[in-house]
Amino acid sequence: MADTADTPAQQVDEIASIAPTSPRVHRHPSFYIPDGTHVFRVGSTCYKLHAGVLCSVSATFVGMFGTVPTSSGGTSEGQTDEAPICIPDSEPFTELNFEMLLTLLYPGCMKMDDRTPISRYLGLLRIGLLLQCKIAQDAAKAMIWKKRYYIGAVDMVDYAREFSIRAWLEFGFASLIDISNTSYQQLSEDHFLRLGMPFVARMCYARESLERHLRIVACEPPSFTHAPDCTSNMQCDEDWRAVWWNIMGRCLLDGRAPKTWEGAVERLTGSEFGNMPYACVQAGMNVVRGGKAFHVGEAFAANAAEEFAREMIVYEDMED
Ligand SMILES: [Zn+2]
Repeated sequence: MADTADTPAQQVDEIASIAPTSPRVHRHPSFYIPDGTHVFRVGSTCYKLHAGVLCSVSATFVGMFGTVPTSSGGTSEGQTDEAPICIPDSEPFTELNFEMLLTLLYPGCMKMDDRTPISRYLGLLRIGLLLQCKIAQDAAKAMIWKKRYYIGAVDMVDYAREFSIRAWLEFGFASLIDISNTSYQQLSEDHFLRLGMPFVARMCYARESLERHLRIVACEPPSFTHAPDCTSNMQCDEDWRAVWWNIMGRCLLDGRAPKTWEGAVERLTGSEFGNMPYACVQAGMNVVRGGKAFHVGEAFAANAAEEFAREMIVYEDMED
């Protein structure tokens, strides 16, 4: 029986004649690397890559290359475009996700930049998990975390649950209870359904506590120690209370455009303080700038978010 195996030269000719002219299959413009050791096909795209590079970052690839079958012609699978290592184009091993992984492994071929959408990093994380590739997982998590302020809070909660990342859930929860940044009128019914009842309940409890605390802070001026030259502590207190209500109360509780604590304090700093002695004004402002009462609210919000995230995601995940 005649030996029908192609010579290397014939194989090159066949690759050149088949791959570029095929209406469906094409070589990836960046990741068909001439000196690669194996050809992969994902969907309609061929990649020529180095088995050593893939195995160095992925236990799954190590397993794969230990079991790549040999064809009857003596040519290992993955040696030609005709006999590539075929991977079905299905989530999460899609052409797009594989391209993201290769962009990370071959940084000289293509680049990620700030315009790379979040969905691509999510894809990288998913394929990184599938392939047991820690550097892909870490890179994707780091980029998503870096872009967290551009991701909707409800989406962040979804991702946190999908990947069991406590820090992301904590961030999403903290965003959703943030009085100054999040209005529940911005959330649709679908958002609430996605969050689920346990989440929504805790979110509302925490938010109500924060709003109550804000009202208390806005209405109750902090006390201070009067200066020795303060001739009427009672009058001084009355002036302080009046200015506090007129400035802090109004700024913090403004229904249309509430100010932040810092913004309200800035407004207070430039106010008239009636007949208060200068030293008493300074004493009062020092207490205000310390922000002790207000920061109790911030600490409460942070603790509530952390506690909830620990309850929802039992196993730790990501190191900041
Ligand atoms: Zn005084």
